[in-house]
Amino acid sequence: MQALSSILTRRPVLSSRTAASRITTLSRHFSATSLAMAPISKEIDFLVIGGGSGGLGAARAASSRYGTKAMIIEGKRLGGTCVNVGCVPKKVTFNAAFIAETVHQAKDYGFSLQETAPFDWSTFKHKRDAYIKRLNGIYERNLANDKVEYVHGWAKLLSRNQVEVTLDDGTKEVVNAKKIVVAVGGNPTAPPAIPGADFGTNSDGFFDIDTLPKKVVLVGAGYIAVEFAGMFNALGVETHLFIRYNTFLRSFDPMIQETVTNEYERLGVKVHRSTNLDQVLKDEASGKLTVHYKGAKGEGSVADVDHLIWAIGRTPATSGIGLEEAGVKLNEKGHVVVDQYQNTSVENIYALGDVSGEVELTPVALAAGRKLAARLFGPAEFKTARVDYTNIPSVVFAHPEVGSIGLTEPQAVEKYGRENLKIYKTNFTAMYYAMMDPNQKGPTAYKLICAGPEEKVVGLHILGLGSGEMLQGFGVAIKMGATKADFDSCVAIHPTSAEELVTLR
Ligand SMILES: Cc1cc2nc3c(=O)[nH]c(=O)nc-3n(C[C@H](O)[C@H](O)[C@H](O)COP(=O)(O)OP(=O)(O)OC[C@H]3O[C@@H](n4cnc5c(N)ncnc54)[C@H](O)[C@@H]3O)c2cc1C
Repeated sequence: MQALSSILTRRPVLSSRTAASRITTLSRHFSATSLAMAPISKEIDFLVIGGGSGGLGAARAASSRYGTKAMIIEGKRLGGTCVNVGCVPKKVTFNAAFIAETVHQAKDYGFSLQETAPFDWSTFKHKRDAYIKRLNGIYERNLANDKVEYVHGWAKLLSRNQVEVTLDDGTKEVVNAKKIVVAVGGNPTAPPAIPGADFGTNSDGFFDIDTLPKKVVLVGAGYIAVEFAGMFNALGVETHLFIRYNTFLRSFDPMIQETVTNEYERLGVKVHRSTNLDQVLKDEASGKLTVHYKGAKGEGSVADVDHLIWAIGRTPATSGIGLEEAGVKLNEKGHVVVDQYQNTSVENIYALGDVSGEVELTPVALAAGRKLAARLFGPAEFKTARVDYTNIPSVVFAHPEVGSIGLTEPQAVEKYGRENLKIYKTNFTAMYYAMMDPNQKGPTAYKLICAGPEEKVVGLHILGLGSGEMLQGFGVAIKMGATKADFDSCVAIHPTSAEELVTLR
């Protein structure tokens, strides 16, 4: 049986109806010009399951840097969560929301902009989808350039050295591999078992919405729910956000939790604090939903809802892919258990990225993939290569943006003791808002957590305009072990908001 293999590097060899049907199936994912068919290799040195951030990082580095015969198997679209239903389309949508805010604020700077029509979500979505499709093609070409064999299909472990691949036409191939990487990521967690929960969608479904909704309900307190809520609200959609506790972003510093939750309310997001949904009804004629809730302030309902989006976490994609049968240990949440070198409990099987449940961010998965490839196939100096999971900066594209690195204040108190900490804080109105009505002014707040007599910076938490871009540079300083004195020794850049971080008293 003929099978699909790498793109561009191979000549078409199928002339049967099977080939035609494969092309039809695949053309949903790939441009026709990039299609080619060939049998897949049956013996490989490095087989990577999952073509997301981590898998691509591992396979490309192994092949292009160290000349390893590598194969990557992807069941959906190249680029994984980040490119297709995560960071990238999310940030593009955030940019649209940012423009909407800027348009509203422009009049305070003397512009007389008149919006003659509502935001054209459909055109926007169409262009966003086209951009993602272009990226899929670029990723595919990168694999070909790096001589990684790319197979579109679903992989299942048969043993520590064998993987079964189900191709798009249903045929199965078995590949023998010296080393296997599991980089299968995760999926949105299923909604709770309440009546009508399935009328809602999840974060993947957010990217399928093709007309601008009038009213949405989001459930969840993590960064995905908060980002989506902020974007909808900025684009003029009536937005309800249901959170189980009193604040959202609960893994962040309390300053961020409290300030941003309050700011969302000020901006008009209807934050239902300490409240859970208990039933969802659908009006079949209009397709609209009514959600019923119970919470700290009693019961109620929200009617005429266009979309209900569950964003209540992510579940590793580890079931049904032969991991346990091959002896790979999973933890109680279903993540693959790994050590600091991405080794699993089975020799020659490795796992990285979201599936290992470390820090679920794209650059972390990518770095883990590259480090693993270096350790396994690189020169001697890389034999202990691994990702350092401490002090990883992270940003929430909320309204306002949030940036955070290191310990939160409660974590620092626990680790060092209150008496060994010095906390520097400030909050102010950024100069951008100087020309605006008081009701247009967003918050800016910064916190520096310093430990010990040398005042080493062990936590930095910022919220306000530009925080996302601002954090990267401060991240380098903190990674290098900067102290408060180091911060102070850097001359301020004026007039910026960031200068406040090097002049804190
Ligand atoms: C809405 C949203 C927004 C996000 N925003 C950000 C952000 O701003 N910044 C950031 O750093 N991170 C962000 N993330 C997180 C980021 O997307 C993930 O951390 C990252 O994609 C993890 O990479 P990965 O390689 O581990 O897994 P994934 O990217 O999920 O890739 C796994 C791939 O494996 C494939 N696969 C699964 N099982 C199989 C199988 N059996 N056979 C073949 N293929 C299989 C899947 O189809 C998938 O393509 C966001 C995530 C979401 C959901």
